Amino acid sequence: MGAITVGLAFLVLTFLGLAWASAALVQATWKRTASPQPRFTALPRSSQKPEAVPGRVWVVESNDRFELYSNGLRVENQFVTNTQPRAYLSLSREDMDEHPARLRFDPVGIVFHTTESHIAPFEEEQNGTLRRAGEGLLEFVRRNHSYHFVIDRFGRVFRVVREDDYANHAGHSVWADQNWVYLNLNQSFFGVAFEAKSRPEDGPPVNPAQVHAGRILVEMLRARYKIPAANCVAHAQVSINPSNRRAGYHTDWAADLPFHDLGLSDNYQRPLPSVTLFGFTADELRSADALRPALEVADDLVRREAAARGMPLERYREVLQRRYKDAIASVGKQTNVKYQY
Ligand SMILES: [Zn+2]
Repeated sequence: MGAITVGLAFLVLTFLGLAWASAALVQATWKRTASPQPRFTALPRSSQKPEAVPGRVWVVESNDRFELYSNGLRVENQFVTNTQPRAYLSLSREDMDEHPARLRFDPVGIVFHTTESHIAPFEEEQNGTLRRAGEGLLEFVRRNHSYHFVIDRFGRVFRVVREDDYANHAGHSVWADQNWVYLNLNQSFFGVAFEAKSRPEDGPPVNPAQVHAGRILVEMLRARYKIPAANCVAHAQVSINPSNRRAGYHTDWAADLPFHDLGLSDNYQRPLPSVTLFGFTADELRSADALRPALEVADDLVRREAAARGMPLERYREVLQRRYKDAIASVGKQTNVKYQY
């Protein structure tokens, strides 16, 4: 009886503690102070309809070593580690200069990476080298908390950082969907890395086993976390360098990401939010054929918006860049979230 009373008291205290913690966090939401900058109208968005979220995918079997899902996905757990639970602020896209940011804890997208690690020839005689390279890579990723998932050369899916935590995969980065703008995506997006090198001389960067694994992993993540297809993007599309205001600091998957084979629409077509909302330029990405049409659309949007305001292009870009600076300073400060790179 005594044990039950103590247990109940403990539960009540835990509940009160949690309630207090969430109240404190909610107070951390950010209300921007009035800014002398001109108000921004919403930029035109892609007319593409967000694809339907995949149906239910459930856990069939779960133990210390792996999880098996109903769509055939098997997630290996030997290299699992954790960081801290995710928490971040997203900004209202409609009117980010006026609306308070929203404190959130839910993953909203996926950033795809290549590991750029040593890639041995994919041949039977290389089995030993291929396995050693994969294990070495996974140890490295675990030590650095680099990604949530790694897909090795044999199409095995390894969970590294737990889904509830952030991973250090995206660094300085920007993405936006219909309603929200996300800054520095370590907290808000999953990081999924293929053991691969960008632009190899011989053939595609990933093999069919990796593509299949990627497809069922994406299906599981989208189904379980209600992730829209439009928020599943390449690292090259989101990566920025704030010091020189250029998009595409990291260029992994600037080309060749098999969106369709992963069950997604071709998101290379989406204008980069770093360019349209924050005035970044994207010269580093112009050599990537896949991204060129979207870059042209993005440039055109910025040019038209500048003309509509009667501003020279460069002046308008400066205004957008100042808006980025204000946003990132306030979001970082108010959440007390350390963005790691
Ligand atoms: Zn990357």
